[in-house]
Amino acid sequence: MIPSSSVKVVVVGAGLAGLSAASTLMKAGFQHIQVLEAMSRPGGRVHTTRPFGQDVIELGANWIHGQEGNPLFQLAQEQGLLLEESGSAKTMCLPGSVTPRDYFFEESGRKLPMDQVDQVCAFFSKLTSRAFSSELDPKHSTQSLGGYLDQEFAQSLQATSKVGQRLFEWCKRSECTDEASSSLYEVSAVQLCHYVALEGGFFNSLGPGGYQALVDTLLDSLPPGTVLCDRPVRSIRWALEGESHAHPVSVLCQAGQCFTADHVIVTVPLGFLKENGAAMFEPALPTSKASAIERLGFGTVDKIYLRFEKRFWPDDCAGIQLVWDAGPEDEKVYQHSQSEGGAWRDTWYKKICGFDTVARHPTVLCGWITGREAQHMETLDERMVGEVCVRLLRSFTGWSVEEPAQVLMSKWWSEPFVRGSYTYPPPGVDAVREHNALAAPLPQPSDAGHSQEKPLQVLFAGEATHVSFYTTTHGAYITGIREAQRIIELYGDKKLDS
Ligand SMILES: Cc1cc2nc3c(=O)[nH]c(=O)nc-3n(C[C@H](O)[C@H](O)[C@H](O)COP(=O)(O)OP(=O)(O)OC[C@H]3O[C@@H](n4cnc5c(N)ncnc54)[C@H](O)[C@@H]3O)c2cc1C
Repeated sequence: MIPSSSVKVVVVGAGLAGLSAASTLMKAGFQHIQVLEAMSRPGGRVHTTRPFGQDVIELGANWIHGQEGNPLFQLAQEQGLLLEESGSAKTMCLPGSVTPRDYFFEESGRKLPMDQVDQVCAFFSKLTSRAFSSELDPKHSTQSLGGYLDQEFAQSLQATSKVGQRLFEWCKRSECTDEASSSLYEVSAVQLCHYVALEGGFFNSLGPGGYQALVDTLLDSLPPGTVLCDRPVRSIRWALEGESHAHPVSVLCQAGQCFTADHVIVTVPLGFLKENGAAMFEPALPTSKASAIERLGFGTVDKIYLRFEKRFWPDDCAGIQLVWDAGPEDEKVYQHSQSEGGAWRDTWYKKICGFDTVARHPTVLCGWITGREAQHMETLDERMVGEVCVRLLRSFTGWSVEEPAQVLMSKWWSEPFVRGSYTYPPPGVDAVREHNALAAPLPQPSDAGHSQEKPLQVLFAGEATHVSFYTTTHGAYITGIREAQRIIELYGDKKLDS
C-alpha cells in the first residue's frame, strides 16, 4: 500500500463536488491533489455575480434546500455566511409590514382572485406530494408526471372551469423549473419518490457573499495552486499498466498538458458527459455507466434578470405570474411538438411562468424559463429578450412598465462544460439504478478485462450521482466527500504517514 503523502489525485471540475472532494482529501493528509477546471472560474453551477452594484445576483444556485441534515447549510452556519433573518427570497426585499404574495394575471389582463389561485395550487401540491412520498396508485407506475397529473386533475372540480384549467397548466409549467424539464411528460411520476427533501424549508438564507462565499470557504481550505482554471480536460486514459506507467491514470488537457494520477475524481455535469462521455475515456466507459448517462435526463432552467430604474409593482407583490390561455390539450400538443421549425420557437416566451422579485434588489425581477424554449432563448440577444419580457409584463398586468435599464440572462445550455442545468428521472427509467451506475468507480469488480490491483482509478461525483439529493448543491457537496472518503478508506491508517 502507498502512503497517502505520495498518492496523486486529480479532480476534474471545480464545482461544489470537486471542491468538497479536494478539501476532504487535503484534510485527511493527501498532499498531491490537482483540481482541473475548464472554465475561467471555480464554482461551476454556482455562479454569483454583481452586475447591478454591490449586491449579488445568482445565475445558478440560489437557495439552500433544507436545513436539517444539510451539511452545506451547516458549513454556511459555521462560517457565519447566513443571514440572521431567514425569510423567503421574495420577502426580504419588501417592507416587513406588508405580507408579500404573488400576483397572478391572465392573458386578458385580469388579476386572478387569490382564493382561486390557492385552491388550484394546493390541489396541485397535494398531487405532486403524493408522487414525492411514494403514495401513487399503482396505475400511475409507468406514467409521466404530466400524464399522472392530467388524469387526476381531470376528475377534480377545478377542471370544470377554464380558469382552473389555466392555473393548473401554470402549476405544471412552474414545476418544470424544479424538474429542469421541457415538460412534465418527460419526467417519471413514480421515480420522484427517491428524491429526499430535507426539513427546514427552502430559504435564501445566504448573506451578502451569496453562494460564492461557500465556494470561497472550500477554496480557502486548499493550498494555492491546487485549482487550475482554464484547463479543460480532453481525455482520461485509465488502466495504464507496465513500467512506463508509475500511475494508472493519465489526464490530458485540451491544451496538451498531461497529469498522471493514482485516482481521478470526475465531477463534470451529466450534460457534459452526455455530449462527451463516449470520447473522453480510454478504455471506454462500461455499458452500465454509458447507459446511465444516456437514460437519466438533464434539462435546462434559465433565469432572466431585468433591472428597472423604478419599481412598478406594488409593495405587497412578491412576483408577477403569467397564466396563459392555453388549455391542457393545447399545452400537451404544444409541448410534445417535435417539428424542428415548430411553432414553439416563435412563441418561446410562453414558457416563461412568471417574474419573481429578488432579495436585496428592490427594482429587479427574475423571470424563469425551462426546456427547449430556454435553449432557444439563449440564442437571442439580451436586448430582444428584455423587450419581449416588457411586452409580456405590460400586456398581462396593464401597468405602465418602462424598458429595463439592464437585462442579464443565464445560458446554462450554451455553456460547453455544463450543457443544461440539472438532472431528472425520465419515465421508464430506474433512477436509483442509474444514479448508482453513474457513481460506481472504475475499474468495477466485474471488469474482468482490467486489473483489480489498482482500485479506484476513476471515481465519479457530482449532483447527478446522488440517488436522493440529485439537482442540489448539498447533493453535489456530499458526493465529493463520498468519493474522497472511498480513497481515504482505501489507504486506511496509512494516511497518517503523511
Ligand atoms: C439555474 C440554476 C439554478 C439552481 N438553483 C439551485 C438552488 O437554488 N439550490 C440548489 O441546491 N441547487 C441549485 N441548482 C443546482 C446546483 O447548482 C448544482 O446541483 C450544483 O452546483 C452542481 O455541482 P457539481 O459540482 O455537481 O457540478 P458543477 O457545479 O457543474 O461543477 C462541475 C464542473 O466541472 C467543470 N467541467 C466540465 N467539463 C470539464 C472538463 N472537460 N474539464 C475540466 N472541468 C470540466 C465545469 O466547468 C464545472 O465547473 C441550480 C442550478 C442551476 C443551473
